[in-house]
Amino acid sequence: MTVMRGRQFFQNPGPTNIPDRILRAMDRASMDFMGQEFAGIAEFCFDGLKRVFKTRQTMFVYASNGHGAWEAAVVNLFSAGDKVLVLETGRFSASWGEMAKAYGLEVETLPFDWRTGVDPAKVEERLEADTARDIRGILLVHNETATGVAHPVAEVRKAIDRAGHPGLFLADTISSLASIDFRMDEWKVDVAVGGSQKGLMLPIGMGFTGVSKKALDATQSARLPRAYFDWRLMLGRQPQKFPGTAPVHHFFGLAEAIRMLEEEGLDGVFARHTRLAEATRAAVRAWGEGGGMQLFCSNAKLCSDSVTAILMPPGIDAEKVRQTALDRYNVSLGGGLDNLKGKVFRIGHMGDLNEPMLLGALAAVEMSFKVVGIPYKKGGVDAAMAALAA
Ligand SMILES: *Cc1c(COP(=O)(O)O)cnc(C)c1O
Repeated sequence: MTVMRGRQFFQNPGPTNIPDRILRAMDRASMDFMGQEFAGIAEFCFDGLKRVFKTRQTMFVYASNGHGAWEAAVVNLFSAGDKVLVLETGRFSASWGEMAKAYGLEVETLPFDWRTGVDPAKVEERLEADTARDIRGILLVHNETATGVAHPVAEVRKAIDRAGHPGLFLADTISSLASIDFRMDEWKVDVAVGGSQKGLMLPIGMGFTGVSKKALDATQSARLPRAYFDWRLMLGRQPQKFPGTAPVHHFFGLAEAIRMLEEEGLDGVFARHTRLAEATRAAVRAWGEGGGMQLFCSNAKLCSDSVTAILMPPGIDAEKVRQTALDRYNVSLGGGLDNLKGKVFRIGHMGDLNEPMLLGALAAVEMSFKVVGIPYKKGGVDAAMAALAA
């Protein structure tokens, strides 16, 4: 095996770079999870998470990845046979729907063009047609990590309200939280699902759900079996609402992540993500000038500030770019998921990232095009530099 020196550049849309400050914060002795000191740390984390989710309602934290938080949302809200509407925009929304189906829910898929994302008017139309109000939940992925399209949660909320529909509104914010603005309460999201290893810059292993009053009420009549993720049991466990032993080291890291986000200010964090995303898009446009590769996102208003998917020209295997960047330059990129496999590769630009890190990754991508023999126009990195220096 070739020895690789230097850090692996993490440009995967999750997990992301873990800042040294977070690693150091976790590098400490065990602490009694029932003691006063940990209670204070947990309280700071729960309050901080609420500020990040922009909610004053209930927060639950799980020792799980994002899939666990997805499952928590499903099992706590519904009963077998309940109908949910999945706004299908890519692999992640489809997977969430598959999980609901595995629990015996009736899953109706409202498909959208993966390149342009959700159309709120179509959501409104479908909900208006649901005169019997059979649809109990509406599932939306805020930022579709598979496609690089960030959906207008507020606009979808307005569509639900215009239809006067009472369904619960569930949003997956796993790859948008702490990278792209998300406002749980203002947008009346009933369950917001998050994970630790993306914008929050933490190791994998924590899942989160922000839960509205309306969702907490719904959990009382929901009949799906649940144990570990049961909100009713968790609410009874004070002070840290945790089932079983709390993962104290993850909480140490989370507390540091919250401090870092608040030092920069959430608006500063979002602005940095926008800047780095625009530079990435400028690079892709330059590489694809005159035909060739393109941004997968074809709806300029909705292109994601945390991940960019790049669509290769027909007949070109995107996977080779990803593999070459990893094997030769130690840069970790995302591949194409589901029916985008081999067609796109993805550059994650979320979490603990700055200009030179992004430029290094973009340079490795441009070199990989040359190594693989992919048609591209030189100058992507220059275009990114121009965007960043502007
Ligand atoms: C990463 C991701 C998930 C899955 O999270 P895991 O922690 O891998 O389970 C779900 N939804 C979105 C939008 C994601 O980006």
